[in-house]
Amino acid sequence: MAFEILPTLKKYFGYDTFRADQENIIKDVLEAKDALVIMPTGGGKSLCYQLPAIHLPKTTLVVSPLIALMKDQVDSLRANGISAAYYNSTQTAEEQNAIVERVVKKDIKLLYIAPESLGNIQFLLNYEYIDCIAIDEAHCISSWGHDFRPSYQNLGFLKKQLPNIPIIALTATADAATREDIVAQLHIPNAKRYLSSFDRANIYMEVRPSDKRVQQIIKFVKKRPDYSGIIYCLSRKSTENVAKKLVDAGFSAEAYHAGLQPEDRETIQDNFIQDKTKIICATTAFGMGIDKSNIRFVIHFNMPKNIEGYYQEIGRAGRDGTAAEALLFYSYADIIQLERFMLGAANEEMQRSKMERMKQFAEATSCRRRILLNYFGEISEKDCKHCDVCLNPPSFIDGTLLAQKALSTIYRVREKEGVHAIVDILRGAKNQHTLENNYASLSTYGIGREVSWRDWQHYLIQFINQGLCTIAFHKDNHLELTHLAHDVLFKGLKIKVTEPITKRRKTPLPIRESVKKSYDEALFEKLKEVRLAISKEQNLRPVSLIFNDASLKDMAAKKPTTTSEFLKISGVIQHKLNLFGRVFIEEIKNHVSFGKADTYQKTLLLHKKGKTIEEIALKRKLHETTIYSHIAKLYEENKIDSLDAYISKSEIEKIREASKVLETKEKLKPYYDYFEEQVPYHIIRLGLTILNKKEA
Ligand SMILES: [Zn+2]
Repeated sequence: MAFEILPTLKKYFGYDTFRADQENIIKDVLEAKDALVIMPTGGGKSLCYQLPAIHLPKTTLVVSPLIALMKDQVDSLRANGISAAYYNSTQTAEEQNAIVERVVKKDIKLLYIAPESLGNIQFLLNYEYIDCIAIDEAHCISSWGHDFRPSYQNLGFLKKQLPNIPIIALTATADAATREDIVAQLHIPNAKRYLSSFDRANIYMEVRPSDKRVQQIIKFVKKRPDYSGIIYCLSRKSTENVAKKLVDAGFSAEAYHAGLQPEDRETIQDNFIQDKTKIICATTAFGMGIDKSNIRFVIHFNMPKNIEGYYQEIGRAGRDGTAAEALLFYSYADIIQLERFMLGAANEEMQRSKMERMKQFAEATSCRRRILLNYFGEISEKDCKHCDVCLNPPSFIDGTLLAQKALSTIYRVREKEGVHAIVDILRGAKNQHTLENNYASLSTYGIGREVSWRDWQHYLIQFINQGLCTIAFHKDNHLELTHLAHDVLFKGLKIKVTEPITKRRKTPLPIRESVKKSYDEALFEKLKEVRLAISKEQNLRPVSLIFNDASLKDMAAKKPTTTSEFLKISGVIQHKLNLFGRVFIEEIKNHVSFGKADTYQKTLLLHKKGKTIEEIALKRKLHETTIYSHIAKLYEENKIDSLDAYISKSEIEKIREASKVLETKEKLKPYYDYFEEQVPYHIIRLGLTILNKKEA
């Protein structure tokens, strides 16, 4: 390898070492070999083509379907001093032409382009201008993938047209079938497959039945005060409902969905990143491209359509590597709704089978992590001991009699009722529906009274899963019997079911956000404020364009006070040091000297920053009276020039008059009594300080 890639890593990205497979992938690309990279979000995927692009003389083409994120990606490269641009339908013809010109002049290292726009730049697609092609979100090419996009279907022409240019295909999630489909469709059969582990061991996974979801959520967040979390909902309306309920219960929460104004979305996102809002109730779009490492929980209010989506969403929790939780609520109502969405879709079959796998995950009676890893082709032989199933292994009981009761009820209503009505009949419910249909006259009416509503639902799901009955989604979700039901009812077929989950199930204790932090939390908070101020002043968004959380934490740990020390911080490059270094170093210096200062100096530092007495008291967790006594002492020692801000001339005069009568200029109480409690102590103190100082 002729290139020295490590110095490039430090110079443009600010890191000292590569992560996982990054180095090998980069070498492959630089040797013009094709590659397929499967790396979880946050794993450092984009570096795999961004770094080689710096070394390659021409332009690296980056095909990406996410027009909304293109600008962020390009901004972030530019912030690192790398020339980059994007080309898509949101631009004017003039803007597009200017970009093409720059590619011709070899002035652009990375060009992001939407697949639909490739046709417009045909004349650039040759060896003269392009020397590498990256296909981001490569799973979109496959109709086997969870997010198929027709515009990706034609990308196969790239390899045919430019056989000597390396293609690097990247995605965060793809099962085995999708992976092979990507390679086949892009015509890169020899691409080396780089598969990072999908295991996010720090995330505890749990699935619960979805009755009284909102109450369950409120209970959950109560036990986790001040934790950051995302609650994913299927509809805009539920995001708003859940957020409102949380706010009503006293939590800091906001709803986020595509129906909001862009400015509002931006504010909500900022507040979340800055920890001003703790919980966001969002539709699935939220969280993409967000750099927030301390999200402690992700809750799914509804079941996601597939495992890929679920995995991507829970992956936004615990990026800092410390304990995080993923809680999924599961109900048949959700399945029915998802079924409805899928009806008539081009790849309905595919979507249905992916949802089937998601359902199996939700209903699992064995380790959930193994199921998840298995799904992505990572065979794990050991149970994780860190999911709800591992902590509460199910016990099986004979369910034959229960099955007979349920199945014969389905038979008696001529397969014309869904789960809800069947349970009502079994429990002998006296509601309008059972009365109107005269169900009380059925011989099975009330024969399952001893089993709770929730437990019946639990059993029925298992009967469905075991193939004793099915849900006829096209017939109002009625339950229909299968030939196995016949065997249970008439041929003595025995059925086993898992016991319903008892009330007292084991869950890991909510772990405080890393018991011991390796960085100075107060400094981290201050640095975040500095970052936000710069972001607003210079209109730099997202804030990670300045420095990301990981860099700020490293600063808060190492506390660099010189430029050379600052340059050693992870993610800091010379370019950014020049732009922002001074302000951050200044803040760190202040913080360090503040830490060493005695109590008077601390008050003085805050006073100099223009803070009010109230603010200083709040910040220092001291009483206001104490802060006034500090101020008085600092004035005495000539560290503060004037007390004009706190006491008026007439007040001083009043105290001077009193001092002539009272014979003391030290004790405050006689003055307080003299003024009949109408002048507060702190004014008396300040007044006497001024008088004494003048006399001295
Ligand atoms: Zn497990």
